[in-house]
Amino acid sequence: MVKSDAEHRADLVKYGRLLFERGFCPATSGNLSVRLDDCRVLITPTGVSKGDMKPEDMVVISMDGKHRFGRRNASSEKGMHLLIYRLRPEVRAVVHAHPPKATAFACAGIALDQPIASEFSMALGTVPLARYGTPGTPDLAAALEQLMIKHDAVLMGNHGVVTCGKDIFEAHGKLELVEHFAEIVQGTLLAGRQAELSPEELKKLNAAVLRYKNELKPR
Ligand SMILES: [Zn+2]
Repeated sequence: MVKSDAEHRADLVKYGRLLFERGFCPATSGNLSVRLDDCRVLITPTGVSKGDMKPEDMVVISMDGKHRFGRRNASSEKGMHLLIYRLRPEVRAVVHAHPPKATAFACAGIALDQPIASEFSMALGTVPLARYGTPGTPDLAAALEQLMIKHDAVLMGNHGVVTCGKDIFEAHGKLELVEHFAEIVQGTLLAGRQAELSPEELKKLNAAVLRYKNELKPR
């Protein structure tokens, strides 16, 4: 079902509020977007709490970053969103936030790539760590470029997390998964050990992922 622009605006309000309420976007941080069509992206405005956005606050920009519609200015991280849409034509939504546990790993310089939780490995594989890039500059997008080609979730060095998906529900869900996994890894560090899955078990997991994806395909 193709959503209307109004439904996409309502989605950004809803998922922005969810992120804010869970403490993933304190103050006015974080940004979300959806790709409306080949030429236009709907993105959250700069300088507004993600817990207090209205549908009319959203900004329409072109694929080259020009302001097309809306009374506010687009998020200062629009360059990162546009880069991901250019790299991955199948991606229709991008979410960026600062969930505290995953951000702590990003600030410690530790990727979330430990093969220890089977369902997380099935859902996201690994979450690599991108080098630091100054927020709101092309350097930030450049730091992510190579990793976003292959991964749906990336830790942004000394900064936060960015995820993408086929819709905003999926992109937001991946961000939730990353934060949940960060909490699990934190727990294993407190416990003093990690029981890694063997290469054979990981191979079986990959086969299970392929089977599951085939089952999801419409007949
Ligand atoms: Zn940020």
